[in-house]
Amino acid sequence: MEVINRIPRMMSVARDMRAEGSRVGLVPTMGALHEGHLSLVTRAREMCDIVVASVFVNPAQFGPSEDFERYPRDLARDAELAFAKGVDFIFAPSREDMYSKDFVTYVTVEGLSEKLEGASRPGHFRGVTTVVNKLFNIVQPNFAFFGRKDAQQVIIIKRMVRDLAMDVEIVVGPVVREEDGLALSSRNVYLSTDERRAATVLRRALEKARILYNGGESDAGRLLSSIRATVEAEPLARLDYAAITDTKQLEPVATISSDGPTLISMAVFFGKTRLIDNIVLNGEL
Ligand code: AMP
Repeated sequence: MEVINRIPRMMSVARDMRAEGSRVGLVPTMGALHEGHLSLVTRAREMCDIVVASVFVNPAQFGPSEDFERYPRDLARDAELAFAKGVDFIFAPSREDMYSKDFVTYVTVEGLSEKLEGASRPGHFRGVTTVVNKLFNIVQPNFAFFGRKDAQQVIIIKRMVRDLAMDVEIVVGPVVREEDGLALSSRNVYLSTDERRAATVLRRALEKARILYNGGESDAGRLLSSIRATVEAEPLARLDYAAITDTKQLEPVATISSDGPTLISMAVFFGKTRLIDNIVLNGEL
């Protein structure tokens, strides 16, 4: 167990692991670890010889008016939780090491990055794909583990890996939720007691749509109306977007087909806190 802060040290450990023929799993995170992250660690532990969890609050994926400065940070706690779940190495580089002053090289998955979350958060996915690419270069994992909570992120990273022939397999874990259905998120700590209660509206709206779909309603417009109505009935919630799309191009669909996966995704504001959630009908990402 070791917390590695410097890129050269991580690269040298990674070289040794590969030379020994170890199967290396990487779980990229921004820290403030919770059971969602730890479920990915558990999966990685099952599949790999060596598990690396990265903890890096990536400035490049935050917009200028977003919560980069106040994002929760507690590396000592993260290390304790991660090591208890069997992580071998925590890679927690500094901002300066990851982004030198004259850093200018970015990776963008065009088209997909501007939709849904990308429309509300311009530049977000450019930051994500750039840092994930850099983490892959440093850690050289055989497997990398991502949560379906961030469905669009999974779709974009899979496309990047395919388009750029990266030698890593992306493994997708299920959404881990609180008992009342709220998806675990490091941002849930921002919620007031009342907002926390209201925040179950994402799950409620999605599950209602699922029930309507299972009852025979496949018209995306009507399902979206139901989602909007559920959110509007919650005074502390303000819908940012809800969308029903395919899972390859993230294009809106008019009718949900039973043949392939369809993504229903949404983002909702509670005060300044923005939470996301999704369900996938008829398949997986
Ligand atoms: P983050 O620290 O928010 O960047 O998340 C790191 C990884 O954990 C990403 O792959 C997320 O999709 C995943 N993750 C975050 N929350 C959850 C959750 N509630 N269930 C499953 N995976 C999650």
